[in-house]
Amino acid sequence: MRLSRTAALLAGISTLLALPAALAAERVQVVTSFSILADMVENVGGEHVEVTALVGPDSDAHVYSPRPTDARDLAGADLVVFNGLQYEGWIERLIEASDVNGPLVVTTDGIEARLAAQANDDHNDHNDHNDHNDHDDGHDHGDIDPHAWQDLGMGELYVANILAGLIKADPDNSAAYEARAERYREEMAAVDSELRMLLAEIPPGTSVITGHDSFGHFARAYGLTFLSPQGLSTEAEPSAANMARLIDVIREENVQALFHENMTSPAMIDQLAEETNLTVAGTLYADALASDGEASTYLGMMRHNARTLHDALAEPGHEEDDHGDDEHGHDDHGHAH
Ligand SMILES: [Zn+2]
Repeated sequence: MRLSRTAALLAGISTLLALPAALAAERVQVVTSFSILADMVENVGGEHVEVTALVGPDSDAHVYSPRPTDARDLAGADLVVFNGLQYEGWIERLIEASDVNGPLVVTTDGIEARLAAQANDDHNDHNDHNDHNDHDDGHDHGDIDPHAWQDLGMGELYVANILAGLIKADPDNSAAYEARAERYREEMAAVDSELRMLLAEIPPGTSVITGHDSFGHFARAYGLTFLSPQGLSTEAEPSAANMARLIDVIREENVQALFHENMTSPAMIDQLAEETNLTVAGTLYADALASDGEASTYLGMMRHNARTLHDALAEPGHEEDDHGDDEHGHDDHGHAH
């Protein structure tokens, strides 16, 4: 009796000791192409996943050159998650060249249906603030903007696709994934309303300049007009003619400020600022998270961008009406609103 109890105890201890290693081994290994998707997967997967981003914070996934270890990471993955819509063209070649076993998640799957539905909505309710929709309609036959995460409504589609992938890779924990995804979507909806409130205080027709065309979905969802010297990708440098044309546009239109992007060189924007006498009003997180601070998560990054735009462009006077004591403006504990 005594002996067997000791044996049981010992067995118990060895189980305990073995537990962390066993848990680590059982975690679903997820490889994502870039940092924003890694944060989304961590939010849905929680303690059941271990996530690697091939392109890390503050780095540009448009122009990434895969390392030899990337193919190994992909081969060892239980799930591979990437954006699609030619955002990271290199990953499709990398997947083809690697021995990938896990299911693939393309987070923008279903986006065209979503965009078509939105376009219908836009025509149904007469929206007075979205001149840029007319502009977009002229580009229907062009490339699709891959930066869909910049609209939190599209972010929900990303989460749905990630959830389906995690359930496929690890069906035993599907209930946990569903619960976490639900909670995350609620958080996203709350941040979405926060963004709308902030950005509604920016006068209609305001234009700003960013390094490349990464805010088309943001503009569609939240207003503002974004112009940039580079196109939908950062692969090609803008020509001198493009820069000259943009400077003309800046002088003709109601352009209020320039913004750096966190993952591209500030040189182009600095040059435009010099030639137009406009100020650079901050840094927007376009295609990558920050390595630390508020913008190191997807939702924090969306909030940071909205606040940066708001602080630079909102009509003064709006805010002071109801809380005159709030001198800081940025209330990080302001979930009550
Ligand atoms: Zn981009």
